[in-house]
Amino acid sequence: MANQEGIGTLKLECPQMHPVGRILKEAPHQQVVYDPGAQAGPRRFWPDEEDQPQFKTTCSQCGRPVAETTTALQDRHRNLILNASETIETATLPFV
Ligand SMILES: [Zn+2]
Repeated sequence: MANQEGIGTLKLECPQMHPVGRILKEAPHQQVVYDPGAQAGPRRFWPDEEDQPQFKTTCSQCGRPVAETTTALQDRHRNLILNASETIETATLPFV
């Protein structure tokens, strides 16, 4: 079993459990990126200035905006990165 410390994927969902992207770090030396999904657009570094203090996006299936405090998402992702056994977690973003 490989040591998974240093990597982690936080899957983001709307309250109806539709995927709205992922916050991920795929290698210890890489920066954190936001992947909105293949159809939604390219990956980008995260968090950006526009993501402060809240990260907002729109669920493509509900058509409704969702948002969460950026620091809360960063904390969860950081804990996941430090966890050597878990690499994937899901975070639900409330409707705005
Ligand atoms: Zn949705």
